Amino acid sequence: MRFPVLIVTMLAAMSATAAEPKTALVIHGGAGFVPKDALSEEDRRDVHATLNRALDAGNRILQDGGTSLDAVEAAVLVLEESPRFNAGKGAVFNAKGGHELDASIMEGHTRRAGAVAGVTTVRSPIRLARAVMEHSPHVMLAGDGAEAFADTRPELERVPNTWFDTDHRKRALEKAQREEASKSGARPLEDDAPKYFGTVGAVALDKHGHIAAATSTGGMTNKKWGRVGDAPIIGAGTWADDRCGVSGTGWGEFYIRSAVAHDICARVAYRGDSLQAAAEEVVNKIVPAMGGDGGAIALDRDGNIAMPFNSGSMFRGWIRPDGTRGTGIHEDEPAR
Ligand code: ASP
Repeated sequence: MRFPVLIVTMLAAMSATAAEPKTALVIHGGAGFVPKDALSEEDRRDVHATLNRALDAGNRILQDGGTSLDAVEAAVLVLEESPRFNAGKGAVFNAKGGHELDASIMEGHTRRAGAVAGVTTVRSPIRLARAVMEHSPHVMLAGDGAEAFADTRPELERVPNTWFDTDHRKRALEKAQREEASKSGARPLEDDAPKYFGTVGAVALDKHGHIAAATSTGGMTNKKWGRVGDAPIIGAGTWADDRCGVSGTGWGEFYIRSAVAHDICARVAYRGDSLQAAAEEVVNKIVPAMGGDGGAIALDRDGNIAMPFNSGSMFRGWIRPDGTRGTGIHEDEPAR
């Protein structure tokens, strides 16, 4: 190839790369053990359709040149509004028969973060978490204080706590309490291993090369004493930096003790692990070695996506930089 031709070819290749910044989006609707026959074909279709609506909501923003922060909030909002998932409407019941919601959001390149725990009347906990990040001097607000802060933000819709009720979560509480009552009370925590989770989350890479992550949940069925899980804890359930973002779902106590979300990104940053290797090691080795289970979604600045889980199923959806997309529930099912 002659020299001028080579230069022109190189410039064309460079401008093509510059003109096409990568975007990527990955979401989850919770990891857990959902037996295949527990979902009717209609349930299954609805789960896939809702995951696709969440992907579309986030992706629209990314394609329009919007921020990863807006994209993860938009995707999580769709899942919070769906009664299928354990976040917002459809959140699990606590031991007192009410709902206490946890959420967090983080922007990678600025390391700004906002989180709320034990919220009872804010329709969208993820919007409240973002408001904490943007309109308060703090990172995390809990309980009555978080509610009082919400009072200062009229744009946040409030609902009675019963608005979050659903019949299937009520039945799950009754079942958990029956099982608890039939036990001696002296059994170790491991015997109470939860079978279903259902938290929601999203991680996105925008055209500006920035990553954000968000997670929202009702926590765990029959939780007591103001229990707070990993979802609102920055570094445990949610993390984003300038090269990696994670949203976790699983048995929160173990995710807190393993700093799952931060550990995955730290392995990428400090050890140069691939995103896939880092996510798999933490979710499939470190968490189970301690007795926990669950999954996570992770994304890096090149648009690589990892979605490991060890719980049999994880509601999940993804759109890769090349535009290929899919949604899935169980391990072995083809992407839809
Ligand atoms: N991680 C959540 C919690 O422990 C539960 C879930 O992922 O569904 O609160």
